[in-house]
Amino acid sequence: LTVGVPRETYPNERRVALTPQNVALLLKKGFAQVLVEKGAGAEADFPDAAYAAAGATLVDDASAVWKGADVVLKVRGPSAAEADQTREGQTVISFLQPAQNKALVEKLAAHKATAFAMDLIPRISRAQVFDALSSMANIAGYKAVLEASNNFGRFFTGQVTAAGKIPPCKVLVIGAGVAGLSAIATARRLGAIVRGFDTRSAAREQVQSLGAEFVEVEIEEDGSGAGGYAKEMSKEFIEAEMKLFTEQAREVDIIITTALIPGKPAPKLITKSMIEIMKPGSVIVDLAAEAGGNCEKTEPGKLITYKDVKIIGYTDFPSRLPTQSSTLYSNNITKFFLSMAPKDKEFGIDLTDEVVRGAIVTQEGRILPPAPRPAPP
Ligand code: NAD
Repeated sequence: LTVGVPRETYPNERRVALTPQNVALLLKKGFAQVLVEKGAGAEADFPDAAYAAAGATLVDDASAVWKGADVVLKVRGPSAAEADQTREGQTVISFLQPAQNKALVEKLAAHKATAFAMDLIPRISRAQVFDALSSMANIAGYKAVLEASNNFGRFFTGQVTAAGKIPPCKVLVIGAGVAGLSAIATARRLGAIVRGFDTRSAAREQVQSLGAEFVEVEIEEDGSGAGGYAKEMSKEFIEAEMKLFTEQAREVDIIITTALIPGKPAPKLITKSMIEIMKPGSVIVDLAAEAGGNCEKTEPGKLITYKDVKIIGYTDFPSRLPTQSSTLYSNNITKFFLSMAPKDKEFGIDLTDEVVRGAIVTQEGRILPPAPRPAPP
């Protein structure tokens, strides 16, 4: 069985799906060949020579990968041009977001390819090692704080120096899922005073365990929905939390928003008037930008300044830390792939496996209906 890794074609995408280390692992497991397009890992600091040393077969262009590989591993979902090169009996594993990419899913099915979406892997304990969404969210939270710090004119930590006493910077993190908790931990490590908020009361302990304060509203409503995911909150709750954010906006220097509800547009929580009362030089990082943004003034993909406040709406945070994100993604996708090849090199799809069934989108020309989500714990 031949595994293939083309260079990512999405604009500014710097990640690669498989590191040289995992190329070596697949070959050791008995796979015949790993085809890697030349330059695939270059932007993530994995040069061709490292792939060659790991035993990969380097090929000049992507079409050689699509022609030769039985299983293609990618980060971003295939482009239309890539999907046109898929064929019967071929498997593609990548992020896919099938609900948002119906035409792509239909094309893959029309080509009779089998496709798996890394973003649909169920979040059950056994599948944590495959959970690329969490790996990427962790990186996004970390990098969001660094971007905030790069665009902020002061220290994060407080200091007493001969030239004067410097107060610590204050950071508010809205949404304490994987990305939010990572942002909280990173801002704490830089010495800031950090506050966290989430609609799920289970997040309180996690925020506090990182040395941050959990800020709350006085409404009894828990945001935990099916499978531990967030649910949409009542109008009253959203109004109460926005009142809280207005008070916080006066005080804090940095706001990092990560509030998301699966399958819904991001809730708008930071309004123009809140930005207007923030101190000049404050920074907002909107990690929900791709889902429409938590902040009214966010422009997805851009850094803008509104009333002396910088608003960062980049949608490619993991790609901005390409070596780290490629390493973690590669570990996730390799382990997922190997879980379907238990007897080495014999790749087989078992639809009774909850994880496989959760992630599969098309199989040999069929579009599979989405699997039901696991029940709440
Ligand atoms: P996410 O990226 O979908 O959402 C980010 C956060 O936004 C969530 O914590 C959510 O509660 C919060 N949020 C939604 N609406 C909000 C609002 N109006 N105001 C403030 N916050 C709001 O979340 P995620 O990182 O995927 O994590 C969601 C849950 O899934 C967490 O409990 C996490 O621990 C859990 N999880 C479990 C596993 C696993 O078991 N393998 C893996 C990853 C995440």
